[in-house]
Amino acid sequence: MHAPRHDPISRHAESASDAPSAAAGPRQVDGLGFEPELEREFRQHMRADQRRSTLVCLVTALGIWLTFIGLDLSRLENLATIGVGDVSVELAIALRLGTLAVILRLVWVVRRNRQAHAYHRLTMLALALIGVTCAFIANMYKLRGLPQADIAQLVIIAAVFLPVGLTFFQSLGIALLIAVFTTVLGFAMLAPAQLAEHGRLSVLLFFAVFVSAVGAWLRERAERDQFLLRRMLHSRAMSDALTGIANRRGFEEHVAMVLLQARRDRAPVVFAVLDVDHFKRYNDRYGHQAGDIALTLIARAIDSKLRPPMDMVGRLGGEEFGLLLYDTTPEKAQERLQRVVQAIAELKIEHAASPTAQYITVSMGAAGFDGQETAAELYRRADAALYSGKASGRNRIELGKGSERLAG
Ligand code: GH3
Ligand code: MG
Ligand code: MG
Repeated sequence: MHAPRHDPISRHAESASDAPSAAAGPRQVDGLGFEPELEREFRQHMRADQRRSTLVCLVTALGIWLTFIGLDLSRLENLATIGVGDVSVELAIALRLGTLAVILRLVWVVRRNRQAHAYHRLTMLALALIGVTCAFIANMYKLRGLPQADIAQLVIIAAVFLPVGLTFFQSLGIALLIAVFTTVLGFAMLAPAQLAEHGRLSVLLFFAVFVSAVGAWLRERAERDQFLLRRMLHSRAMSDALTGIANRRGFEEHVAMVLLQARRDRAPVVFAVLDVDHFKRYNDRYGHQAGDIALTLIARAIDSKLRPPMDMVGRLGGEEFGLLLYDTTPEKAQERLQRVVQAIAELKIEHAASPTAQYITVSMGAAGFDGQETAAELYRRADAALYSGKASGRNRIELGKGSERLAG
């Protein structure tokens, strides 16, 4: 039987219940868009996800473009007789070659997986150039009575919406640009007798934009849903259901990443293990539910004293937490960990069954990263320090082997 219970932290209970919930996933904004940070992550994910299809599309585009250049060359004899020194012929050649250069550059960027920031701009530039060049050259051939296929503009509009890592709105913008440019250029360049036919082509182009856009919109909705779901599952798998902070797996993943970074930056890192003192007695005295609330409050108090995104607290299990302090020397860590202890003390969670103090206290073992060791070795040193802190009376911070004690 448990000892008579009363709830010493009912005043905290309400605030504890709104602890960050692991179940709360990222939220979607209206239509096609997330909050800025999530949106950036989504675009990055989409670019990576569609890298293969982008390469396939690019190689196809390159093949088609070279074929077009071949066709131009076969008609060049005719062209040469029509307009030697004709500016429009020169402009057409410049557009063809300029577009070829942009496509080749894009193939290089995608193949090497480089210059992420340039990717969207280059892709949009390549698509716009393809559309503009084809419209211009088709008109030029038409004016000279040479065979041409301006209907190919429809295929180009559809191609703008292929999965090449652009968002729906980027694709829509380029498709509209091509449709408007083709329409306006035709009315500006063509002879009056050709305008009726051109008007029909223009209407068809806007239909093509509409139909392709509907398909692309639906596809992006599905992609965003899937992205959110995957992210939510990942964040659930990495966070602790009770306290909302990282669980052991999430924390270890973060530690591994931060230690790599610290090695590269030669930054000092301190790893600490925090364990609640006499927590079994607390549970026995106040009940498991009160214990849960206390753990949640403690987790939140620790978290409030860390500096994200590099610092992190994780629940290693039971009433034991791991803390990672980035760019912090063991000397500075003393002060920072003391602030964590202070924040927990300020919770004033009554613990009448503790032989150490009347409120809940914690013990910490800390170790400075030596720049080489593995996360497991670092953890072992911090844990050994914790053990020695527990043995010498609890409610203290102990620094790992070979170092002075940080605080009492
Ligand atoms: P010490 O000062 O040596 O750390 O003593 P302690 O009682 O805190 O350590 P011990 O390892 O003996 O007991 C840890 C207790 O933490 C046992 C368990 O009931 C409690 N505990 C572990 N996980 C949870 C949890 O999720 N919720 C609650 N309420 N209690 C937990
Ligand atoms: Mg304990
Ligand atoms: Mg413990």
